[in-house]
Amino acid sequence: MSNNTNRARQTKAQRRHDTAQAYGFMVGLFAFLMVMAVYFMFFHNSDKDSEAAELPKVINYNTQKVDLSDADARPADNSAVNDESSQDEPASSTPDESVSDTSENTADTSAAHESAPDPTGDHKLEVINGITYVDGIMIVNKTYSLPQNYAPGLDPVAEAAFNQMASDSWGDGVSLFICSGYRSYQDQEKVYSGYARERGTAEADKVSSRPGHSEHQSGLAMDINTTDYWFTGTKEAIWLEEHCADYGFIIRFPEGKESVTGYEYEPWHIRYVGVDVAKEITSKGLCLEEYLGVTSDYRYAPEYNG
Ligand SMILES: [Zn+2]
Repeated sequence: MSNNTNRARQTKAQRRHDTAQAYGFMVGLFAFLMVMAVYFMFFHNSDKDSEAAELPKVINYNTQKVDLSDADARPADNSAVNDESSQDEPASSTPDESVSDTSENTADTSAAHESAPDPTGDHKLEVINGITYVDGIMIVNKTYSLPQNYAPGLDPVAEAAFNQMASDSWGDGVSLFICSGYRSYQDQEKVYSGYARERGTAEADKVSSRPGHSEHQSGLAMDINTTDYWFTGTKEAIWLEEHCADYGFIIRFPEGKESVTGYEYEPWHIRYVGVDVAKEITSKGLCLEEYLGVTSDYRYAPEYNG
């Protein structure tokens, strides 16, 4: 009798123990799954793009935050005299040193164009409010930067041209959208310094523009559909290359011009230059640097060479 009771008690205890173990296992499994989910959602970084100016994830966030909506932040006008007044602290360090701590060290770009390198050939370079124009075309690349406070938002003319292009491409069964448009100096700084911290400046320079040197800050550049190399050769990429000049855009970093533009081939990155110029550049098989007779190299950027 008491034996039976004992056995029953033991069995009950055993069952309780098993149940507790099962619960423990379930809780543990659940916690593990949650950790994995959080890891994949936030920390799992599978970026492999080498887009000149950006990191896809950041771009996508930026797109949602700032693209298309900032057109009212346009600067007053560009007709003022050249910005000769603000040079106070020329950067004296080498490029690598000066960007190794980008967050502190990139503050003063107002002095950037004091000695903007002249183009070769018969081209006219003007620096207006810290912005460089060659033959009236704004140039932003590794040599020429934009002032930190230049925050125009996406250019409305470029945006309208894109909308027309996207609408027309739809008729050809092609779907184009802006993956990344305008990007502020500050956003670019975050992207670049993140890369620089992670991989060092040499690697960062391959995949990201230094703050002030991203064409996206001009409001005239856009990444179409993606910033990933799977885009290459898609019908969208082919359509874009064949037709974008008709709407005033050029493929800004063409294949084969890497040593001139300073960037890898990017079939998705287009720059608005107006229809006439775009058609001329495209038909001659040039990149913008060749067309304007300028360099794209941080070694010539005034803020990096003092
Ligand atoms: Zn881009």
